[in-house]
Amino acid sequence: MAETRDVVIIGGGPSGFTAALYLGRALLKPLVLTGEKKGGQLMYTTEVENFPGFPEGVMGPDLMVKMEEQAKKFGAEIRQVNVTKVEFVNGIKKVWVGEEVIEAKTVIISTGASSRMLGLGEEKLMGRGVSTCAVCDAAFFKDKRTVVVGGGDAAMEDAMALSKFASEVTMIHRKSEFRASKIMQDRVLSNPKIKVIWDSEIVGVKGEVKLDGVRVKNIKTGEESEMQTEGLFLAIGHLPETVLFKDQVELNEKGYLTTTMTAMLKGDKWRVSEKDIWLEGYPTMTSRDGVFGCGDVVDYRYKQAVTAAGMGCQAALDVEKYLTGRVGSW
Ligand code: NAP
Repeated sequence: MAETRDVVIIGGGPSGFTAALYLGRALLKPLVLTGEKKGGQLMYTTEVENFPGFPEGVMGPDLMVKMEEQAKKFGAEIRQVNVTKVEFVNGIKKVWVGEEVIEAKTVIISTGASSRMLGLGEEKLMGRGVSTCAVCDAAFFKDKRTVVVGGGDAAMEDAMALSKFASEVTMIHRKSEFRASKIMQDRVLSNPKIKVIWDSEIVGVKGEVKLDGVRVKNIKTGEESEMQTEGLFLAIGHLPETVLFKDQVELNEKGYLTTTMTAMLKGDKWRVSEKDIWLEGYPTMTSRDGVFGCGDVVDYRYKQAVTAAGMGCQAALDVEKYLTGRVGSW
């Protein structure tokens, strides 16, 4: 039987690689199981202009290669494999990759969340007109025509962000009212640059090398029309990658991992004692002792590469403190 690892990190995006960098430098020889699709959401982007330290911008996949190299340099072992099963009892945790079982004292879950897609093959135009992050990409659409899909707060934020740059912002929503908070709706509906097409869905995405337009169908009348646009922003929700963990750690009602920090932010008393959790506890620990969470699998609000990396650092520091502070046998 192989030796028990100090820490296994499941997921190889910005949060997982940052955790691996810190834990490598702490001489804890982290093992990162990245999943077959290594690199996370940044692998589907082109230019990233909002990651600090790159004034000229950096291509998303290049940034991920650099993060991986940096983690490896300090002793992280990286394996591009899918975890197939986990068993998190208190004490030693078990992680399966097919038939192989890996044992660890601590586990960090950093499996991320994927943006929900329309299912019309639009993935092939990601970074070439199609985007899931207006905060990241709005500035690339100066004086261009853009479309936003969705009726939640994220869609409102995207439309507002785009209205600063684009020549036109058209929101396409499948209902006759938005579900977003009233204040966000009011901002959108009073913005002269934003137009809304209600009761409609996108039924086709046009373009081979870049986005050329979309086909829109009115759900009530069945009428279809074509619209030319250079930008299509999808804000139709995210799916956290937590299926593997649902019986092992607590998830919130949206399926995201709950950590002490997110429970505290929501005002839950869950796992919060009288002591100062921020200083004395483990803000990134999940409901299971010794299992930590970071990045977009926890964060249903910010979802930025830099916030994911920041949380990866927090999880690594929590793991280090947990391992050094723990007394008694495993
Ligand atoms: P959301 O609230 O779940 O909204 C998703 C929207 O996408 C809904 O309007 C939904 O339509 C639509 N949609 C889903 N699948 C679709 C499909 N296949 N085709 C077309 N439309 C589809 O998601 P979100 O906007 O990402 O927000 C997630 C959470 O973060 C929410 O709790 C939100 O309040 C919060 N958030 C807050 C802020 C803020 O306060 N500033 C900013 C961003 C997000 P239906 O309405 O018809 O279901």
